[in-house]
Amino acid sequence: MQLLEGKKASDAILQKIKVQTDNVIQAGQRKPHLAAILIGNNGASETYVASKVKTCAQIGFDSSLIRFEENISEAKLLKKIDELNQNNSIDGILVQLPLPKHISEDQIIHAITPSKDVDGFHPFNVGMMTSGTPTFIPATPYGILLLLEHYQIPTKGKHAVVIGRSHIVGTPMSILLSRKGYPGDCTVTLCHSGTQHLKEISLQGDILVAALGKTEFVTADMVKPGAVVIDVGITRVPDPTKKSGFAIKGDVKFDEVAPISSAITPVPGGVGLMTIAGLMMNTWNAYQKHIAS
Ligand code: NAD
Repeated sequence: MQLLEGKKASDAILQKIKVQTDNVIQAGQRKPHLAAILIGNNGASETYVASKVKTCAQIGFDSSLIRFEENISEAKLLKKIDELNQNNSIDGILVQLPLPKHISEDQIIHAITPSKDVDGFHPFNVGMMTSGTPTFIPATPYGILLLLEHYQIPTKGKHAVVIGRSHIVGTPMSILLSRKGYPGDCTVTLCHSGTQHLKEISLQGDILVAALGKTEFVTADMVKPGAVVIDVGITRVPDPTKKSGFAIKGDVKFDEVAPISSAITPVPGGVGLMTIAGLMMNTWNAYQKHIAS
């Protein structure tokens, strides 16, 4: 069994971006710049945004963290997005999800100009991705592709089973794995909460992507021996033995699935780190387009 370590793969990718960034800065260009908007005080969101900002600094990007109270109006948030859209020194804009209930996620995502939509959630970019045109790919599926590539995991002709159909993970993952080329060329089955006989299907997966947000849902009896298992799940569960008071759990029961898989991602230390690498790649690509235009 091979451990697909997000740390190793993301370090390699981030190092490459850092070298390229250093080169363009030495040549007199401004730094790439990511703006992150964080609303309210959700502990998990705080952690994710903090890692994104920290990673920007590590690779030589500028970042701006813009914070708003939970009760910010949709109109005020849209005004801020418009300002960032107009600001020529900003390459990427991300609004950390989830948003408070009184704000429409769709309205906010649609307001970000597609050329700065480094999360790849805008319908324009989703359409481009679906039609196989180079564009911003949602960071988590992008990170998974980068991980498969880093470890040279064969994908052509494989049956990929994706569990979960969210717009940010499962659905784009299924599209990307079925695309022509590497990593892709898979035959894909997308499973969701309405799927019947899930175990029969998951047992056919040469590549199994678990993205449903249910702790340790995927057990060994659901996994084809020799499968490549990608665990996207991140759930905080109370754990008094940890300083933070919680432990991070994936969607796969790692201890029993790892021995029968050919390769598997750990949680933490797997897909989460690759998501940040995917976001940085998108920001780098946005920057290159902006400075060339
Ligand atoms: P979501 O809640 O939006 O979607 C969950 C999906 O799982 C739904 O499509 C639903 O149909 C499906 N599902 C639920 N129960 C099911 C069942 N019993 N059988 C089959 N399908 C079922 O979740 P999401 O935003 O896609 O996130 C999924 C998980 O991935 C969460 O734990 C989230 O925290 C994590 N996540 C991790 C990263 C990362 O960087 N590692 C990024 C995004 C999300």
